[in-house]
Amino acid sequence: MTAKLIDGKAISKALKADVRVATDALVARGARRPGLAVVLVGSDPASSIYVRNKRISCEETGIHSVSHDLPAETSEATLLALIDQLNADPAIDGILVQSPLPKHISEHAVIERIDPSKDVDGFHPYNVGRLATRQPLMRPCTPYGVMIMLEKMGLSVRGKDAVVVGQSNIVGRPMALELLMASATITVCHSKTRDLKAEVGRAEVLVVGTGKPNMIPGSWIREGAIVVDVGINRMPDGKICGDVEFAPAAERAGWITPVPGGVGPMTIAALMKNTLESTLLRQGIAL
Ligand code: NDP
Repeated sequence: MTAKLIDGKAISKALKADVRVATDALVARGARRPGLAVVLVGSDPASSIYVRNKRISCEETGIHSVSHDLPAETSEATLLALIDQLNADPAIDGILVQSPLPKHISEHAVIERIDPSKDVDGFHPYNVGRLATRQPLMRPCTPYGVMIMLEKMGLSVRGKDAVVVGQSNIVGRPMALELLMASATITVCHSKTRDLKAEVGRAEVLVVGTGKPNMIPGSWIREGAIVVDVGINRMPDGKICGDVEFAPAAERAGWITPVPGGVGPMTIAALMKNTLESTLLRQGIAL
């Protein structure tokens, strides 16, 4: 392997340690401890694991987490009423509703009901708009985590050709906005892109989030590129792999994120950072 590994696990650990120092400092000066409400509807196994990891991270970072585990048959009205209650709760700085939601509940309606200043996932159209206009408030966690990771590695994207594969609301689109805000020249690819290989081959910075295991062959990667693999795919043998063919990509790339241990832990660390930032704003404190 010639690429340098971008160790998201180590970077996320350091970021969470910084959040811990900040929450301890807050409490020491008599301020309120940050509070995160984690809402899970149903018992999807992957969602249950994500939610558990988020709760563990709250403990590690000194964030008070409140769990709301609701049955799969919960109505949209009941969920919206819970969000209203959390919006009004002064002890809650962040509201996270784990997706996917059961089919009978509209994700859009739920996201739009969350007070944008408590939208620590950064999915509310207000927060996406803030990012699009270069005045970020709550930044979508996965792309925010990627940008923090690149910054900690000392990797600038300024002026570089950045290609994002995937255009979802939670990964590709906000990722493109983050890269644009950092002055990269961006291209966003998706399933209708005519010549994906050519687009990927131009990328000095490549971010892939498609949910298709190993779909980017290592041979497509531009020599020396920064490769960020957002994909998390569970294979039939139980192993987790990304959307980029890791070993051959690592022979060509300059830097690469592993899966697992790359973007995944950074997403959770960014969620903790957003919750801290939310409480600072809400309590009017500059640390
Ligand atoms: P979605 O299914 O919502 O979006 C997938 C995107 O990939 C779509 O835009 C789709 O294009 C595009 N795509 C699919 N197939 C191809 C193809 N053959 N060529 C080009 N583009 C393609 O997925 P998510 O964005 O929610 O998630 C993507 C991956 O990231 C998943 O593996 C998920 O598990 C992972 N993930 C990881 C996180 C982390 O913390 N590391 C957080 C969130 C997600 P089109 O729009 O045209 O259909």
